Amino acid sequence: GLDEKRLKKFYIGSIDQGTTSTRFIIFDGTGTPVAQHQIEFTQKYPKSGWHEHVPSELIQTVRECMEKATEAFTKDGHDVKDIKAIGITNQRETTLVWDSETGEPLYNAIAWPDTRTKGLVRELKEQKGADQLQDICGLPLSTYPSSVKLFWLLRNVDAVKKAYDEERLAFGTPDTWLLWHLNGGKKKNVFVTDATNASRTMFMNLHTLEYDDTTLSFFGLDKSKIKLPKIVPSSDTEAYGAIDEGLLKGIKITGCLGDQSAALVGQQGFSPGSAKNTYGTGCFLLYNVGDKPVISKHGLLATVAYHFGKQGKPIYALEGSIAVAGSGVKFLVNNLGFTESSSKISDLAGTVKDNGGCVFVTAFSGLFAPYWIDDAKGTIFGITQHTERGHIARATLEATCYQTKAILDAMELDSGAPLAELAVDGGMSNSDLCMQTQANIIGIPVDRPAMRETTALGAAIAAGFAVGVWKEFDELREINQKDRMIFKPNVTKEEGAKMFKKWSRAVEMCRGWLD
Ligand code: ADP
Repeated sequence: GLDEKRLKKFYIGSIDQGTTSTRFIIFDGTGTPVAQHQIEFTQKYPKSGWHEHVPSELIQTVRECMEKATEAFTKDGHDVKDIKAIGITNQRETTLVWDSETGEPLYNAIAWPDTRTKGLVRELKEQKGADQLQDICGLPLSTYPSSVKLFWLLRNVDAVKKAYDEERLAFGTPDTWLLWHLNGGKKKNVFVTDATNASRTMFMNLHTLEYDDTTLSFFGLDKSKIKLPKIVPSSDTEAYGAIDEGLLKGIKITGCLGDQSAALVGQQGFSPGSAKNTYGTGCFLLYNVGDKPVISKHGLLATVAYHFGKQGKPIYALEGSIAVAGSGVKFLVNNLGFTESSSKISDLAGTVKDNGGCVFVTAFSGLFAPYWIDDAKGTIFGITQHTERGHIARATLEATCYQTKAILDAMELDSGAPLAELAVDGGMSNSDLCMQTQANIIGIPVDRPAMRETTALGAAIAAGFAVGVWKEFDELREINQKDRMIFKPNVTKEEGAKMFKKWSRAVEMCRGWLD
């Protein structure tokens, strides 16, 4: 069991730089959060389908969260010197470019759901070698990975092209950008990424965990001209440096994981066959396949789940990515004024007994797994005079549940084994109605922990392992097991199947929308 007495004396800080907010959480060794701070930052939608973040805001919110949470931590009588390490987890694929000499960003960060590359992707799919990419890097060509976003920047932004030609173009996902700054920038020049983040770029060979010349040259990149961060293990005592300023100055950063990998680790998905589904801005199902990658034949992605330490083998996952989950709820709140906050959507959905025949394909960024339809747009089917806001709220929550069902079906085909139970987390998993619906549609129990900051916990685990707070996965077994809630299916299989059939038809009908 947990050696609580020992573990209560150690703390680990966790930076969670998500799509809509940044958090810093300090956990004790038993995985209990003891202090935290969270800040939402600006979402820019300059054109339909475009989605950007301001690079300086990403680092500023991280710094501010660290300071505020640490102040609360010390106010409670804790001592900063008991914080043994810091972990970092971040939104993946989001693409940043900066001048390697000055550190100045050359464009806003292009966020992962951005679809400005739709036309480019169509073009790239025709290019020689396109059909070989997935075997190398695990990802199909789509608007989603960093590679196409960088390709767009090189083609459309003069400053980016010029920096590339002059060999001072630095590329990175948010982990790399934040780590560089947290280490004091140019002075230390810590320019790294972990294997889970690198596996989302398309530039890394999934089998060797090194940059791959074939994929780089497919995107017209010359490795000697562009500055790519060094790929290192997710848990490491040296590679990530240390905090350069502020209250946590001098504390080592020893763990780094892409957010979905972190959630898998936080849910302790360490054995092959375990899976988790995180309902945040988007929704991402990761299924641990062990130490050999499985290239999907059914519309899923192959990705690095985590790579703990130099001696340990990398562990891989099959992933089902859904572009719109909580952001669909936010759309109802911010754009349509349905309720005053996301947390009230469940109540609104609860004012009606079912979706009243409404199906909402929330394809704001096209549809991701397992469909990969770039030219779908959000479409609501089945509207009548009977339709109320409650029906649309319900249909919005259901959209993520249906896509999860489609992903589980694909996963069963790829892995040969059906899932027995689904562990969940993320903002939208707060909705009981949504989780019950999910159980009904997939016909297996949905298991939700009481402490849902599993993404941050995962990064803390990666960091804690590096410095020996824990030495074996077994020591973590009891972490976050208390007061979990199990949602059991409460409709017949036929009813679930009938709802899903309607959804599948709606997906077919929303293809090929004209721009
Ligand atoms: P991320 O890390 O991607 O920013 P989070 O896991 O913090 O995401 O989840 C935030 C999302 O969850 C928001 O899009 C919000 O709309 C949604 N959300 C939060 N609470 C609820 C709730 N009670 N019911 C439905 N959706 C919710």
